[in-house]
Amino acid sequence: MKQIESVFEIKIAEVKSLDGDINYSNKKFKITDSIGTKYVLKIFPDKKEWALAEEESFMLEKIGHTLSFQVPQNIKLSNGNMFFKFENDNAKLLSYIDGDFIADVFHSDKLLFSLGEKIAELSIALQSVESPIFASRILFWDIQNTHLSLPKITFIKESERRKLIQYYIDRFTTFVLPVQHFLRYSIIHGDLNDYNILVDQENIRGVLDFGDATYSPMVNELAITLTYMMLNKQSPFEVIRPIIKGYQKHISLTQGEIEILPDLITSRLCISLCNSAEKKHLGQDNEYVLISEKPAWDLLELWSRTNPIEIQRYFYEATNFQGNNNLSKDGILKTRGIVTGKSLGLSYEDPILMTSALFQYMFDEKGNAYLDCYNNIPHIGHCHPTISKVISTQTRKLNTNTRYLADSFNKCSERLLKYFPEKLSKIYYLNSGSEANDLAIRMARTITGRNTVAVLEYGYHGNTATGIEISSYKFDGKGGKGKGDNIIKLRLPNLFNGKFNTGQEYAKDAIDLIEQLSEKPCAFIAEPISGCGGQVPLAEGYLQVLYEYFTANGILTISDEVQTGFGRLGNWFWGFEMHNVTPDIVVLGKPMGNGHPVSAVITTENISENFANGMEFFSSFGGNQVSCEVISSVLEIIETENLQENAKVVGKHFKNELLNLKNKYPTIGDVRGEGLFLGIEFQTKNAQPDKANANFVKNKLKENFILTGTDGPFDNVLKIKPPLCFTKGNVDFFMNKFDGILEAIDSKI
Ligand code: PMP
Repeated sequence: MKQIESVFEIKIAEVKSLDGDINYSNKKFKITDSIGTKYVLKIFPDKKEWALAEEESFMLEKIGHTLSFQVPQNIKLSNGNMFFKFENDNAKLLSYIDGDFIADVFHSDKLLFSLGEKIAELSIALQSVESPIFASRILFWDIQNTHLSLPKITFIKESERRKLIQYYIDRFTTFVLPVQHFLRYSIIHGDLNDYNILVDQENIRGVLDFGDATYSPMVNELAITLTYMMLNKQSPFEVIRPIIKGYQKHISLTQGEIEILPDLITSRLCISLCNSAEKKHLGQDNEYVLISEKPAWDLLELWSRTNPIEIQRYFYEATNFQGNNNLSKDGILKTRGIVTGKSLGLSYEDPILMTSALFQYMFDEKGNAYLDCYNNIPHIGHCHPTISKVISTQTRKLNTNTRYLADSFNKCSERLLKYFPEKLSKIYYLNSGSEANDLAIRMARTITGRNTVAVLEYGYHGNTATGIEISSYKFDGKGGKGKGDNIIKLRLPNLFNGKFNTGQEYAKDAIDLIEQLSEKPCAFIAEPISGCGGQVPLAEGYLQVLYEYFTANGILTISDEVQTGFGRLGNWFWGFEMHNVTPDIVVLGKPMGNGHPVSAVITTENISENFANGMEFFSSFGGNQVSCEVISSVLEIIETENLQENAKVVGKHFKNELLNLKNKYPTIGDVRGEGLFLGIEFQTKNAQPDKANANFVKNKLKENFILTGTDGPFDNVLKIKPPLCFTKGNVDFFMNKFDGILEAIDSKI
């Protein structure tokens, strides 16, 4: 320090370390001299930093006098040099800027507006700076390089968080990367976080630390500040308007900049979170590195639950930009009525126009976000980034039919078959549950030479001609012609309000009926829990007794696992396991492709051999390379994201909470199901099916932005079957609204 006293002819009274980040190669000290003047001493142990430090000083000297706030200025030596030797390193002395960090003060709209103005002012000043040194830097902190953070996601321990980062970095590469080079570029500060901005009450006094200055799209400067100012806020989106309004006083954002701003903010959050994860992994985490970690996760998670249209609206409002999101629901409804027929139904009397979805949330055109408690096709979550990636990558390589050999076919088949008992060792791919059931029945008819199929009442197995033939839900429903001669309909073994009290009685009833037939059925098809029957688990023991009888009589057993499969039931990966039976044929669909149309029939070697009677089995799309990659990824994600276990734990919590409400409200007659496949049956005071209340509740839930559906022979069962990433928090949100709705009904009775 003596050196400094002599070089600058001052008497040092106090020296304090200012280093926040242990990884900064430069060391910082606050120095106060004997007459109270404060300075910052910066030491540069890393020689590679010298040129940059010099460039930074030139830049700050150039722009300093044009700004209405302070930036650090070099205190030059008497010979005009910026650097002096400090021990063996280079060092420089800078002016000290007084003030509070903006992180530590209340953010009034006035302050935020002023902040916006100052960012714009800085951007305008920096436009005059030309610096090959800054322009040639590639910094991972720079939003334009967000994709460089992707490899770091392996350092994030929680799979649901990795998925979130993967999703938002994908958005960067899809929506920002291809357009960013058309944006306005300039040198930017690059790290206008809340500890680099100093304020005096509601005025911005200064901006510190230009160590991350780089050449980047100008709008990234604004995005970075917006990111940090949104952290730790009750209503983070509210800060957007004042900051952007202030900014727009000096710089008009272009349409392209406005439209990508939300993605720039999530990108910066991803960079920061990947960095914290890496630092933690390397054991380099300290208070400074992790300070924004929790609030950054909170913000990113909130972002994922918020309708992108709603988020975009904050930016549009702040800039008076109209946007081009003027979808008319009425218009779309009308056109649909013109282009298709009435038999294609819609959910809800007032249908919802969905514009996007993410994980367990769905978003409409008005900006509303719905909690999805109903859709079981996006089994691992809507728009899972791995599935999007796999589809787009494989369609770029090869997507052809199964008459050519492909490794992906074998890999995905071997992987899937591992989930089955050894006996079920052959797989055939199709495109929908209906087609797969159709093939299962065709197999049974081909092999046995018999035609009759035993089905359960209220069962649904598909929309094809055979599908309707075997679905009591359809042939007994509106427009149905009743059961065909080749169908034998068995009673649904329902323990809640059915005829018998045990599975054994129901099985005996079924066997008695079959025994009366002149010719035995070729097959028996059933879901382990009847979805369209009203989420009714087949009574315990029923399938065990029946399967024994069927096997003894050469009747093939088919388990339709289109809804119950792939871990949804929590305790079991397949529904038939819940009944301790092994079917001859298993039918898979919906969840298997997470929305990509793929299904399968799994069967035994013996059935497979006998089915090969010379007639070829071929499906144009079934088992193509894209489908196979998707299936493998779905299985991989179910495993890595622990989704079966999640279905078990969250499903148990959900069911327990519902059972508690059943004790409170007599309108709930029954709560049943397994894992995240639950049903709530509504009843009247006289224990009769209560369709009106079930539908009232479904519509009220929709008004509260919760998606469910009703089903069952009396349409009085509320069905719950959400994506498996559903959380306990989601359950509690549902229960809160559900309880309120039931209370209102209760008080009316
Ligand atoms: N089986 C069951 C049990 C189903 O729930 C469905 C569809 N709801 C199907 C078969 C038919 O599947 P898809 O709509 O894919 O043809």
